[in-house]
Amino acid sequence: MSSESSYRGRFAPSPSGPLHFGSIVSAVASYADAKAHAGEWRVRIDDVDKTRSVAGADTLILSTLERLGFEWAGTPTYQSHKHSRYLEIIGILLARGEAFHCACSRTEIRALASSHNDTLIYPGTCRQGLPPGRQGRSVRLRTPNTISTVTDRFAGDFEQNLATEVGDFVILRTDGLAAYQLAVVVDDDDEGITHIVRGADLLSSTPQQQLLQTLLGLSRPAYGHTPVVFGEDGRKLSKKDAAHPIVLDEPLPVLLKAWSFLGQVNFDADNVREFWREAGRIWCPARLPILPAQQGSASLQTRP
Ligand code: GLU
Repeated sequence: MSSESSYRGRFAPSPSGPLHFGSIVSAVASYADAKAHAGEWRVRIDDVDKTRSVAGADTLILSTLERLGFEWAGTPTYQSHKHSRYLEIIGILLARGEAFHCACSRTEIRALASSHNDTLIYPGTCRQGLPPGRQGRSVRLRTPNTISTVTDRFAGDFEQNLATEVGDFVILRTDGLAAYQLAVVVDDDDEGITHIVRGADLLSSTPQQQLLQTLLGLSRPAYGHTPVVFGEDGRKLSKKDAAHPIVLDEPLPVLLKAWSFLGQVNFDADNVREFWREAGRIWCPARLPILPAQQGSASLQTRP
């Protein structure tokens, strides 16, 4: 896709298994939005969490995308190649006092923490410095006790008080890996991403990402969150559970099903090429199913 505008989107799957219908839905929305803007579209393999990566899943994901007719600019990037970059950024936040070393174990946090919608709110034990004799295990970001607002292109405004609803969150994990929230913000900026279209399960993470962008002086992409696909058991489909792998013998029906899940006007296409030509032309975010506003999970219970 050649870029005729200042739009650069991306799809950033974690290689924890093959793509399932829910990830295809996100990819279709993101690619159609990029096409509708005559923008550029990239693929990044979000493998910062090496403990969840499955060998070969990246290759499988890329070949699935290819079969479905997605075309991306450049070569896919890998978060696992950027560890030192993340550490450099974490060092900056620590030096400025915006982040702090934390010695607490999960058990210690659980014993003292309050919770909000099943999220344990860090009790602040190491906020003013490590207790005597304790070693830092992770690094956390200080969260402000104010309302943060995400102005979502599709879902409307989403508000969250980071201090009371999320707490000081981890940016460097106890296993030495950068946390997703930190990595995603650094990568989106390094890659010049201007528009992020992804599943609504990540809407409630966006205030954390916007806080990091503000602290680091990074540009803020436009966000649009799309409905999440739930399985029969009422849980979000997960690559890790190998949930609902898609059958690629016939790629077109998969695309049409994703298109219809996104509330878009149905049309006939003879092949994936034709599908994408038309999809980019008629993509209409106003037709996306409405997400229930202001929910912590901000996701829509919709079955494929
Ligand atoms: N890697 C995340 C996932 O597979 C998506 C990250 C993002 O789009 O910001 O769910």
